[in-house]
Amino acid sequence: MNLDVLAIAAHPDDVEQTCGGTLLRMAEMSYRTGVLDLTAGDMGTRGTPETRIAESDVAAKHLQLVWRGNLHLPDARLENTLSARMTLAVKIRELKPRVVILPYWQARHPDHYRAGELGYEACFLAGLKKLDPYSEPHRPFKIIYSSVYADVKPSFIVDISAQFERRMTALLSYVSQFGHTEQGGALFPGEQEIRERLGAIARFYGNQIGVRYGEPFVIKEAMEVGDIVAMPVRSI
Ligand SMILES: [Zn+2]
Repeated sequence: MNLDVLAIAAHPDDVEQTCGGTLLRMAEMSYRTGVLDLTAGDMGTRGTPETRIAESDVAAKHLQLVWRGNLHLPDARLENTLSARMTLAVKIRELKPRVVILPYWQARHPDHYRAGELGYEACFLAGLKKLDPYSEPHRPFKIIYSSVYADVKPSFIVDISAQFERRMTALLSYVSQFGHTEQGGALFPGEQEIRERLGAIARFYGNQIGVRYGEPFVIKEAMEVGDIVAMPVRSI
């Protein structure tokens, strides 16, 4: 498959809130982008797994993904088991991403931080030659963590000003989650509320790099800079 970027997330509609603008921006730069959702959201208050997968396919078109898949692991009780790691590692070998986007390693929802841990360990396993005789080893070059819902300083922020509205359209494709119903009203805000909330968060991060909307990421390794004169973002 040879993807340039693969985002791995716990639930359908996660990437649309955390790194969808970046995925869209990369697709516009002609990179091949994909999303692998680990669960189909079968424990969700609203919608069925079938509806959420159908909605995630619509969202995939808005994000211009070349590939989107779902591993159907158990929602709300995602576990970092050997079998889950192996399944994910084999998928990574098939898709051969250069960059993998994972959820940040601390989160309110256990599925989110487990997805980050599971993703990291699967990326490691995927590079082992003897892991599985039927697939070629592949280890992603770069792992970046989407930190939008973590209260931590980003390592870098991607300007998504030109992609923000389409990311919102992608998110609102999940009609079962963001449409108007009485079910789970407090946890499931309507369209106006979600627009304001995500708009405020993206403005907050955009403001840190002097643009309208941004998406934050954390990396564990240091960043290399070859030209300090051309470094973006004003200090003063
Ligand atoms: Zn989620």
